[in-house]
Amino acid sequence: MIAAVIVAAGSGERLGAGRPKALVELSGRPLYEWSLEVLLGAPSVERVVVVLPAEAEVELPAASTRVDGGPSRSHSVRAGVRACERAQQILVHDAARPLISGALVETLIERLAADELADGAVAAAPVADTIKRADAAGAVTATLQREGLWAIQTPQLFRAAVLRAALEADDATLAGATDDASLIERAGGRIVIAPWLEPNFKVTTQADLVAAAGALADRAR
Ligand code: C5P
Repeated sequence: MIAAVIVAAGSGERLGAGRPKALVELSGRPLYEWSLEVLLGAPSVERVVVVLPAEAEVELPAASTRVDGGPSRSHSVRAGVRACERAQQILVHDAARPLISGALVETLIERLAADELADGAVAAAPVADTIKRADAAGAVTATLQREGLWAIQTPQLFRAAVLRAALEADDATLAGATDDASLIERAGGRIVIAPWLEPNFKVTTQADLVAAAGALADRAR
């Protein structure tokens, strides 16, 4: 049984909307609802948990479950995962990526099923830009080989026991993690890439909101 956790408890200050980012309106609904609709409609997903700021006044569909968020993204994920006791696989998704689709969910499920040894599969796009490292003064110290570099997104799908164990890391480790897969990697786990070439960007700025609205309109056409 597969459960999905949508994390939507971030403050989203960079959007400057004066309310949590997941509640900002995108094409007529709160941002998180786009992901919720896709996951509630995914035939393989049996349970959907939405992690929201404790103070958020929203009505969720009866088919989903609400949980209060934590101080960091990983703490919010842990809170959501704790509400998925019976799941054998858990999909974690950021509400900030509203362009998730049923096809993407199925791609992850197939990718994980195809690799018995994998603990998780993550949506990812090949890096298109040249990536350099720079020091504090902004001087370039290295240019990375682009081959083999991937920009990692959500959703990420995990074998539930491995994810639960990884989320028992100490607070500092949880607070420093930018995704869930990295917590499993540091424990020696195997994470595999599920290449995804359609737009699935994270909404961070007003310009991203405009771009996401355009992508959703294209899809509806
Ligand atoms: O801030 P960032 O864009 O990296 O957040 C990624 C996702 O994690 C967002 O969907 C945000 O709502 C969620 N988050 C959370 N709890 C936090 C911080 C972020 O659920 N404490």
